[in-house]
Amino acid sequence: MTDSVFTKIQKREIPSNIIYEDEMVFAFEDINPVSPVHFLIVPKKQIPTMNDLQEQDKILLGHILLTASKIAKEKGISDDGYRLVINCNKGAGQTVFHIHCHLLGGRTFNWPPG
Ligand code: AMP
Repeated sequence: MTDSVFTKIQKREIPSNIIYEDEMVFAFEDINPVSPVHFLIVPKKQIPTMNDLQEQDKILLGHILLTASKIAKEKGISDDGYRLVINCNKGAGQTVFHIHCHLLGGRTFNWPPG
């Protein structure tokens, strides 16, 4: 598998503002933010889509959500509220085929989503 743009960010081959990193995940500012706060939480394991998840990825998935929750608190958006989004495949708007969780905050969000 060739490196995704996100793996290249993690390897510091593409510049980005990485705000968090541990053994399983890393997080950075989205280059094209759709809200005042917009980070991506990404597993270091390069899994293309949610359809490719396996039983063994359970802990990793939990860790992604826990990391998002911690970053939301750190960035001061947890009390007002925030939205987590994982797009799966083109119909949902996925453009980078390395799963990632969008952490969106700093404004009000509509429901249903567009
Ligand atoms: P998705 O459409 O759910 O696949 O989201 C992919 C996201 O990655 C988009 O919000 C893009 O703006 C973001 N993105 C793509 N390339 C970069 C990059 N080099 N640095 C930061 N964010 C990026």
